[in-house]
Amino acid sequence: MSTEDNKSIPEEEPGKRSLNFIEEKIEKDLNNNKNNRQVHTRFPPEPNGFLHIGHAKSIVLNFGLAKEYNGKCNLRFDDTNPIKESTEYVDSIKEDIHWLGYDWEERLYYASDYFEQLYEMAEKLIKDGKAFVCDLSQDQIAEYRGTPTEPGIESPYRNRSIEENLDLFRRMRAGEFPDGSRMLRAKIDMSSPNMHLRDPIMYRIKRSYHHRTGYDWCIYPMYDFAHGQSDYIESITHSLCTLEFEVHRPLYDWFLDNLVEEGEIRPQQIEFARLNLSYTIVSKRKLLELVENDYVDGWDDPRMPTISGFRRRGYTPDAIKNFVEKVGIAKRDNVIDVALLEHSIREDLNKKAPRVMAVLDPVKVIIDNYPDDTTEDLELVNNPEDESMGSRKVPFSKEVYIEKKDFMEDPPKKFFRMAPGREVRLKGAYVVKCDDYKKDDQGNITEIHCTYDPQTKSGADTSGKKVKGTLHWVSAPHAFQAEVRLYDRLFNDPAPSSKDEDFKAFINPDSLKVFKNCYLEPVLKDAEPEDKFQFQRIGYFCVDRYSEKRLPVFNQTVTLKDTWAKKEKQQQNQKKKG
Ligand code: ATP
Ligand code: MG
Repeated sequence: MSTEDNKSIPEEEPGKRSLNFIEEKIEKDLNNNKNNRQVHTRFPPEPNGFLHIGHAKSIVLNFGLAKEYNGKCNLRFDDTNPIKESTEYVDSIKEDIHWLGYDWEERLYYASDYFEQLYEMAEKLIKDGKAFVCDLSQDQIAEYRGTPTEPGIESPYRNRSIEENLDLFRRMRAGEFPDGSRMLRAKIDMSSPNMHLRDPIMYRIKRSYHHRTGYDWCIYPMYDFAHGQSDYIESITHSLCTLEFEVHRPLYDWFLDNLVEEGEIRPQQIEFARLNLSYTIVSKRKLLELVENDYVDGWDDPRMPTISGFRRRGYTPDAIKNFVEKVGIAKRDNVIDVALLEHSIREDLNKKAPRVMAVLDPVKVIIDNYPDDTTEDLELVNNPEDESMGSRKVPFSKEVYIEKKDFMEDPPKKFFRMAPGREVRLKGAYVVKCDDYKKDDQGNITEIHCTYDPQTKSGADTSGKKVKGTLHWVSAPHAFQAEVRLYDRLFNDPAPSSKDEDFKAFINPDSLKVFKNCYLEPVLKDAEPEDKFQFQRIGYFCVDRYSEKRLPVFNQTVTLKDTWAKKEKQQQNQKKKG
């Protein structure tokens, strides 16, 4: 390793951010020399869907802590439920984590790789008299379980001998019994106030193809048994999960109490609040419903809150990570305003994205007094926020396109864009005055005629004229044609999944608008998939990942300003009035 590599650059100024409660816990463990002063975390997705923004929080947290404390973070697929899992999801998850900028190095694991070890641990619990084979049906087990206020009833099979339990469990594995006919259960306490300790199920019989082990197994471990033991097998020190697992912690600990050997690392489960976002759904089950019923164009539709959806929409890993950092780690559930995420991407792209001109809904402007067959190459800066991004040449000629909505035949006083008899500046070019316009039979404006003032050239204006409006434009003969897709929030309700009504009723019908014949300035011809730009006066855009050179597609990442804040205010005012 070179000395260069050894240099550690502090990520933040010391003292800039106070420690969150997990960091505090870790530092305490380090000070107490716990776990040989190691920090080892894991990110444990179930490969039953694509990762969403909530998972990004968990990824940043787990991989981030490992980095912060010179530790390690594993990627472990929690693949104990063969029915919903697939390799397509495994691949997408790996790709998304790498895209976010994290790496598990050689530590890629699957809970299914531990099936043999887990099985042996289950046998050990049987041999210690801590687990038994139960012949009650699923429904009976639920019935016997009692309620949070009433104790449960012990299974009539609870007191089978160790030999009988061992024999039955081995025969369960060997496939001698039908699906669902028997279960392995932990023998804990049917009257525990914690329902999870009422003889929980450890194994079930389920004949199903598994994406990695094929038909090797017909019994599968339950999440609660597999998860903590997988942590133990991997010597995980801090097992971070979301708050809903807090009530599972006594069970997590019970298994470890009975299985961890002297001198080995005993994982500790720590819960944190999951990320909930307004106007957004973060449940794989519901997202799958959107995909399967074609409400969206796949898991990576730019409106999906999946990591691959955000990527396709033009979000950057930095914007997502900054957002997660800003949200922080809490111990109580809360809902974060999606506007904070949108702010994060604006902030990032404002610095990084070159500014260009694009006309989405064009109408032609003819500058009658501009010489024919002449092109002027105007020099426009790429980003006033960052001089190092330089400038580019933008061709100007007698015919340009502007947005239809930047022209009005009969405008109100405060309309500072183009209108008969009024003057506006074409950005980076000249001041033009509208003299005339033509309409077709339907009343659509087909062309606008202007004259320009040669003394008003941007950067060399000697006219002393002051105009209020500046419009973006594209030179017609040089324009480059593309499709532009305007995306908006997928749901038009702040809490689409908390209502009695089906969440799909809140899908925003205007979440996608396609403009097929847009004109862009020629520099965009060289744009590659995923390149990002600011279309001036419109928003931030990126070239679609699957875009083809022939007719490129640009996706809107986000508008320049938060348009929803205004909408929300109006809604609130209406509510007050109504
Ligand atoms: P979903 O509820 O969307 O199906 P999940 O929790 O079942 O998600 P897993 O694949 O089991 O999905 O999650 C992998 C890891 O990501 C877990 O540690 C889980 O706690 C964490 N995680 C999932 N959703 C969120 C969220 N919204 N915020 C923070 N962490 C999350
Ligand atoms: Mg899960």
